[in-house]
Amino acid sequence: MRIAMISEHASPLAVLGEEDAGGQNTHVAELAAALVGEGHDVRVYTRRDSPSLPDTVATLDGYRVCHVPAGPALRVPKDELLPHMGEFGRWLAGQWRDGDWSPDVAHAHFWMSGLATLHAARRTGVPVVLTYHALGTVKRRHQGARDTSPPGRIGFERALGRAADRVIVQCQDEVGELVRLGVPRSRMALVPSGVNQEVFRPDGPVAPRDPARPRILTVGRMVERKGFLEVVRAMPAVPDAECVVVGGPPADLLPADPFARRLGALAESCGVADRVRLVGAVPREEMGRWYRSADILVAAPWYEPFGLTPLEGMACGVPVIGTRVGGIADTVVDGLTGDLVPPRDPRALGTAIRRLLADQVRRFAYATAALDRIRSRYSWKRCAEQLSAVYAAVSSVGRATPAVA
Ligand code: UDP
Repeated sequence: MRIAMISEHASPLAVLGEEDAGGQNTHVAELAAALVGEGHDVRVYTRRDSPSLPDTVATLDGYRVCHVPAGPALRVPKDELLPHMGEFGRWLAGQWRDGDWSPDVAHAHFWMSGLATLHAARRTGVPVVLTYHALGTVKRRHQGARDTSPPGRIGFERALGRAADRVIVQCQDEVGELVRLGVPRSRMALVPSGVNQEVFRPDGPVAPRDPARPRILTVGRMVERKGFLEVVRAMPAVPDAECVVVGGPPADLLPADPFARRLGALAESCGVADRVRLVGAVPREEMGRWYRSADILVAAPWYEPFGLTPLEGMACGVPVIGTRVGGIADTVVDGLTGDLVPPRDPRALGTAIRRLLADQVRRFAYATAALDRIRSRYSWKRCAEQLSAVYAAVSSVGRATPAVA
């Protein structure tokens, strides 16, 4: 099948860790590669955010990245991209109608991509599958007045859920959110993300560490809702351990980063500055080294649409402590493959870390059970197979020709 993936702000080629570059970029890159592995012809459409980008790039994984000229050719915060989605959609429609390649199905990632994709689909008849990745209702609930989403996001998300041929949900929590929003359950297919088990595996190189000091690792974009402040606040309850934070801007830009400075100041005031280390952005292919160097991975977001970092830690054989939110409540089985604690509760987090660090047998049991869970449920191949079935169900290519009597 010919599959178009639309990811307006999250390019599969981006450097990860910065404010708008994280799980969606990884998801799109891995999924595109896995769909190619299933024999599909895949193109990823993302915004041209630099004048030096070529029109299309052929990746080593066998899919093409097409750079769409919509909006300024420079990096713009994703919340400012809405006015350019009409232009994005018109460009897609033109390509699919008049160019030499048009998709059998279009899979939009994030609501703004959904708008551009529906715009193009209405003009070309291409069926649309949508993954939200994040929901405005959840963001509004947690961020309140600090939510920078464009006005109208929630209404657009509701309308998109009703207009798309299928909505891909990634966890049970998202099903509930969408039902409350008014998206019909019958439109939804639950297909969780996968994890690359070639990159994230228990054996392989390990980042240097002090063998005498237990290492707590936490990974993600440097935004408040990822819970790094709570991890630092938990550290006084865990004497002797070090806390390593991976993500944010590249290491040399950390001193100027406002959130990194805030974390540093908090570590000072908690008396743990000598035990908290910010590493900055790490290239994806080196992430496994960092996971493998840790005794425990902590994923402590306030909310999390899916959460790839717990899966990556689990795939590397590292026990996980996560907050009981979003996808983490599905991927981490409390007391079996890891521990779940309430979000925004440094005291509960500190207690859980201290207890797990003191119990080597439990850490080993969690890591073993987590690896089993990853291998049986969270491969990208499985994800691509399930999505192929969804694409086939909505596209004319996948519809069986009626038997002639
Ligand atoms: N990541 C990375 N380098 C970094 C920080 C993060 O490669 O310095 C990757 C991480 O391995 C994961 C993704 O970025 O694949 C973050 O995904 P997650 O779902 O945890 O969070 P999101 O960014 O989607 O909120």
